[in-house]
Amino acid sequence: MVNNWPRQNFSSMIAFYGNIGENQMRLALPYPMRLAWDTSKTVNSISCHAKVHDSLGKILSDIFALYGSIEEIGKARMDLFGGCLNVRKVRGGTNWSIHSWGTAIDLDPDHNTLTMPRTQATMPKEVITIFANEGWVNMGDSRNYDFMHFQAAML
Ligand SMILES: [Zn+2]
Repeated sequence: MVNNWPRQNFSSMIAFYGNIGENQMRLALPYPMRLAWDTSKTVNSISCHAKVHDSLGKILSDIFALYGSIEEIGKARMDLFGGCLNVRKVRGGTNWSIHSWGTAIDLDPDHNTLTMPRTQATMPKEVITIFANEGWVNMGDSRNYDFMHFQAAML
C-alpha cells in the first residue's frame, strides 16, 4: 500500500495526525466543486490535514482524469462536495468523526446517504478504486452504508 494510514481509533489518530482540527492546509482543487448543501456556491480549495494534502490532491486529479472534463464530472456528481474538515462527533455517538482531523471527505451525499446500501447508493466503483489506490477507505464499500464517505484511516 502506498500510504500507511493509521487505524481510526482515537489514540491512533492522535498519534499520527495530532490534535483534532490542527495541522490543516488549503488544497487547491484540480476542478471546481459545488457545495452539496448549496449548489449555487462553488469552491476552488478546501481545508484538509497536511499529511493527506498530497494524497487527496492526487485522488481528485485522478478523478478529473477519469471523467476528462468538468461537464462529465458534473454528470457523475463527483463535483458535489459534502465536507472535509469538520470538528464534530460521529452522528449519534461520542467518538470524534474522522472529519475532525480533516482526513475524510464526503462526495455526492444526497445519492450516497448514511443509510443507503450499495443497492441504492450511486458512488462509482472507479472512484472508490481511485481512493483505494491511495489507501483511503470508502465506508460504503467496507460496511455497506455511508457511501459518500472516504477516509485516510483504516477501520
Ligand atoms: Zn464523511
